Order: sequence, then structure tokens, then C-alpha cells
Amino acid sequence: MKPIEEKTLIIIKPDALNRSLVGEIIHRFERKGLKLVGIKMVQLTDEILKEHYAHLADKPFFPRIAKFMKSWPVIVMVVEGLEAVESVRLITGDTLGRKADAGTIRGDFSMSVQANIVHASDSVENAEKEVKRFFKDDELFSWDRVGLEVIYAEDERE
Ligand code: UDP
Ligand code: MG
Repeated sequence: MKPIEEKTLIIIKPDALNRSLVGEIIHRFERKGLKLVGIKMVQLTDEILKEHYAHLADKPFFPRIAKFMKSWPVIVMVVEGLEAVESVRLITGDTLGRKADAGTIRGDFSMSVQANIVHASDSVENAEKEVKRFFKDDELFSWDRVGLEVIYAEDERE
């Protein structure tokens, strides 16, 4: 069985902050059963955005997204759970908000490709890198959840 400590990085983007959706977004991940192990507000810089969006550096929209992401602060958070990376991507929805499935965060709150409310790591490998990019070890908390038996079956927790 995979670990219930799999971690993934979520960034609540500036559009969500300006639209007062921060609580709503956190609420959705919390209610799912994902465990919040790190959270803070940060100001992104060109340096960190170049690293974080390295796979998009050659795209014509890269300067636009970089400008957008650093024009306001963002909330970065780490959640953990069984197959958390995949689960968070499913809750997040497709990149293009207006075509994302209803019920997903992007499907419910976004009409845009750029202003699409959240970032979520897209693989376990990238999640590990992204968590390290934004969080120091002492900013992550390993805490024992009360009532884990109502979140997972016994064999899923082993
Ligand atoms: N993006 C954009 N225009 C595009 C594709 C992506 O502005 O045509 C932005 C969008 O905000 C997206 C981010 O770049 O969330 C990262 O793109 P990626 O392909 O990694 O999508 P994601 O993993 O966020 O769904
Ligand atoms: Mg991505």
C-alpha cells in the first residue's frame, strides 16, 4: 500500500486571493480528507517563478503568467494523503477553467487559462521538488490526526 504521507504542493493564485476565494479553496481540500501540513503567504519573485515554471519558459505566455503571479502575494500550502498528488489534481480540474469539469475548483470558479485559481503539482516527483522549493523542513508539520479511521480503511493506513 502507498504511504498516506504523500505530499503535494498547492498555490492559491492571485486571482483567488483578489476574489476572496482563499477560504473556499482551503475548505475543499480540507473536507476531502487531505491533511494540511504547511501553509503560508508569500510574494513570488522572478527567480522562483523561472524555476517553478521552467517547463513553460519558452512559451509566449510565460512573461504574462510571471507578471500575474508576482503582482500580488499567493498562499502556498502542502497537503498530504494517500495518492495526494493525483487526488489534488482531480479536485483542481483541467488547466483551462472554462472547459474544466463542474465540481472541480477550476470548473466552478474560473473562465481563464491564466487566472485558474490554483496550482497543483502534477507528479509525485515534481511534488517532492516543489514542496522543497517553497517550504523549509521546520515549516512542515507532522501531526497525528484524530479520527484517521474515518478517513481511511485499516489496510490503507498500514
Ligand atoms: N498557462 C497559461 N496559458 C497557457 C497554458 C498555461 O497562462 O496556454 C498558465 C496557467 O495558469 C497554468 C500554468 O501556466 O496553470 C502552468 O501551466 P501547466 O501546463 O503546468 O498547467 P497546470 O499544471 O497548472 O494545469
Ligand atoms: Mg503544471
